[in-house]
Amino acid sequence: MRIQVLGCAGAEMPNHNMPGFLIDRTVLLDAGTIGLALDFQDQRAIEDIFISHAHLDHIKAIPFFADNLVTRNADHTVSVHSTEEVIGILKQNLFNGLIWPDFSLIPGPENPTIRFAPMLTEKTVQLSRHRVTAYHVHHTTPAVGFLVENDKGKRIIYTGDTGPTDTIWKACDEHVLDAVIVEVSFPNRMTDLAVKTGHLTPDLLAREVLKMRNLPLRFFISHSKPSHMEEIYEELAQISREYIEVLQDGQVIFL
Ligand SMILES: [Zn+2]
Ligand SMILES: [Zn+2]
Repeated sequence: MRIQVLGCAGAEMPNHNMPGFLIDRTVLLDAGTIGLALDFQDQRAIEDIFISHAHLDHIKAIPFFADNLVTRNADHTVSVHSTEEVIGILKQNLFNGLIWPDFSLIPGPENPTIRFAPMLTEKTVQLSRHRVTAYHVHHTTPAVGFLVENDKGKRIIYTGDTGPTDTIWKACDEHVLDAVIVEVSFPNRMTDLAVKTGHLTPDLLAREVLKMRNLPLRFFISHSKPSHMEEIYEELAQISREYIEVLQDGQVIFL
């Protein structure tokens, strides 16, 4: 499995892009960053986008990506997957003809740029080379994380944004996962704010790890606030300097 980190930050700053994780060049987990990181040929290769939740930092690249596809006559339909609730929020509040055009009707309803694909939680979506399952997580807006498996048998979990949570860790029950990408947004001293806003700190993460029946082979951190990164990383290192890996924008990981 090839994981390309288009962005992994919890805020937008120079050299820190919003979350976007490209799996095997065709499946994108969250869409905070696309066009800032990929040339058009690589954008055109994206077939499926899975959205964890409708917060702007996880969706904001989709409008400009759709615009690129149409203006370049790409003749390409991208499926945007998430729960019915999240897709409803996107349709009502973003692709509503006011904030941005409804790209599920452009260029025409028979050959749209975006196909919205509602999914049920804990029901696997089968793609040509991947299987994706959504699990509820705990955030301030309806949110899921994803288990992604490819045709080589590699399996990862991406949590999206979440505070302390439970059901997604069921995906660790049967298999040893190849990797987990989990959010840690705030340092320990901001635990109250983290819990209130549905995010994790290093100490809260340590408690999540205890819920995993099998530990994943690799453990990646995303969504840290750039202004608090050094403090967060120091606190993560106190948990495990060897095991926990902090992601960087532009990084490509092979599992
Ligand atoms: Zn969020
Ligand atoms: Zn976020």
